Order: sequence, then structure tokens, then C-alpha cells
Amino acid sequence: MPGPVDDPYVLLGLDRSAGEAEIRSAFRRGAAKVHPDLHPGDEGAQRRFRELNAAYQLLNDSKRRRRYDMWGIGVDGDELPEVDLGGFGDLFSDFLGAVGVRSARTSRARATVELSLQEAATGCKKSVSYDRQTECDSCEGRGGIGLSPCNACRGRGKIRGGKGLFRFRPERRCEKCRGRGQKPKSLCTPCAGSGQHKRRVTLEVDFPSGLEDAQSYAVKGEGHHAPGTSTPGDLDVRIKIGEHEFLSRDGDNVRCALPISFPQAALGTTVEVETLQGRASLKIPPGTQPGQVLRMKGLGVPHRVRAGSGDQLVDIRVRVPTEMTETELSLVEELGREFGDEVRQEPRTFVRRLKRLFL
Ligand SMILES: [Zn+2]
Ligand SMILES: [Zn+2]
Repeated sequence: MPGPVDDPYVLLGLDRSAGEAEIRSAFRRGAAKVHPDLHPGDEGAQRRFRELNAAYQLLNDSKRRRRYDMWGIGVDGDELPEVDLGGFGDLFSDFLGAVGVRSARTSRARATVELSLQEAATGCKKSVSYDRQTECDSCEGRGGIGLSPCNACRGRGKIRGGKGLFRFRPERRCEKCRGRGQKPKSLCTPCAGSGQHKRRVTLEVDFPSGLEDAQSYAVKGEGHHAPGTSTPGDLDVRIKIGEHEFLSRDGDNVRCALPISFPQAALGTTVEVETLQGRASLKIPPGTQPGQVLRMKGLGVPHRVRAGSGDQLVDIRVRVPTEMTETELSLVEELGREFGDEVRQEPRTFVRRLKRLFL
């Protein structure tokens, strides 16, 4: 298990006043020595690389750097990021290309998309923009132009591994040429020898129904295309669902609050209600109570595993008027008397005077 990381300045051999460029080149220098591609299978080197990476990530982030300078709060071992060259591909590509190392980049690309509640519930087609690394067109991902046999393996692509207790030493892949047996004569200029290009691309994605907020949706084969690999990785699209004015999601059901008047609740009526599929009518039965929940069948989010959809649940609120005309006041008063309730004991003129004083 990785332990806590030491002083990032010490790790990178830097002065506390080091500037951005110094930090970067110190990291490059250090990381190039212990880069996992140069030491396949060497756990110590990998660990060291991750430490350097963590130290670099810390010092490169001005907020975290300030926090560290003030409080000494650094990086916990648990926080150590995985070796992911995709994250700082640009920083490394020219350098690694130049020393003949191809980085083992992760091939998953990432994007975020914002969907409305309707779009997420019913599914939609939406364009997604993201940075994608693809093979360089000029060198077709080779990183260089013109090929000559690899010196390390004499063009065989394989070398004899290990030192000899045993007469038989198994052959392993030549890491200098990645088993190709050939290396480019000169570096490709457009991609600085990395064999890759980073481009902003836009992709039309068909999102299925029933996606949830913060969920990741994978699109096959639309991620980064690392040189020397035949298939690109996947694209991970993070779903962000916007707020709806009236509706909120509750699993596969959708909820909303509906204010109605006392006569509507008492006598029953039909009202128009906003749903995921547009407006729909809802029958309010006579004698509907405040807090009662009416169910609109099948107007929720389509189920993912079984057929059908959730429902829309309508939470009934009964509006009590705060301002009334003379006629309304007398009608309510009359109704109250009819119900046998005690209403408006104060003489009307007194109430009015009070209102004038305080409102
Ligand atoms: Zn190129
Ligand atoms: Zn070789």
C-alpha cells in the first residue's frame, strides 16, 4: 500500500519558490527516469513514478500548492492517482517520442452532457464535444518517418530476457520498438514524435431513456485511439440532469405539486397538468383532500429492465385565498354559516381598519 507522500518540493528536487516551468521540467526529468514504459514490471519504479506524478499534480495546482505551503497538507497515499498518461499527454508526448518511448495512455475519453429531465427520461439524440486523441495523419501513428531496424533487438522485435542462472532464457518483447522490430528514422513534426493528435470533436450520441443524474454512459469505440492499437477506447459521457420547473424525478416516477382551489377540490374538475410528454388532463374527483396524491398512470420514466413506465404522482395542495373581493367574502361567510362554523366574529369595519393600519 502506498504511504503518505513526502514533501513534493524535495521529491522533485525543487526550491520553494520554483515557477511553473521549473516544476514542469523537474517532473519531466524525474519521471522520464522512472517511467513505467522504461521499467516494465518494476514496481519500485512505478511507485516512484506515481509519487512524482502526485507531487507534480499538487504543485501544479495553485490552490493545492498554497494549501500545502500554508498547512503542509499534501497528498495521502490513497489519493495517489493511477498512472494515467492520458491526463498529461501533451506534456510527455514530445519528450517520450524523442526517446523512443510510446506512452501507455489510457484510451478512455471523457465528456459531460447536460440533459433536461424530459430528455433523460425519454431518451434523446444530443451532440457531445470532447477532446479526443487520434492517430497522427502524417505518420499514421508511427511517430516518425521512414523506418530502420531497431538497434536494441536487431530488427527481431524480441530480446532474450533475464540474466543467466538458466541456460534457457525466455524471449520477451523488445520495449524499445514495442515488438515492431523497426524504429522511425526521423521524428514526425506535426505530432512531435508522439504519433498522436489531440482534437476537439463533436459526436451525435443516442442516449437511451431512463438515464440518471451523475451516471456515466459509455459510447463504444469513440475514445482515444492510441498509436499501435487497432481499436479506439470508449468515450465516457457523464450525465448532468437539469432542474425542471414543475417536475422532479423519484426513481421511475415523476412528482409534481398541484395547487387547486377549494371549490375545485370540493366539487371535482378536470385540469391540465405538465408531464414529461407535454400537457395532459387530470381528473380531480369531488371531495379531493389536501395532501392527497393522484396518480397519472404510465406518465413517468420508462422502466429500464421491464416493459412500461413509472407514473406521475400529483401532490394536491388546496389554495386558501389571501385577498378576496367583497362578494367573495360574503359568499365564503355564507358558506361558513351554512357549515355551522364560527366565522368573522369581528365587525367588518374593524377588520378593514386593522388592515389599513398594518398592511
Ligand atoms: Zn505524426
Ligand atoms: Zn526492438
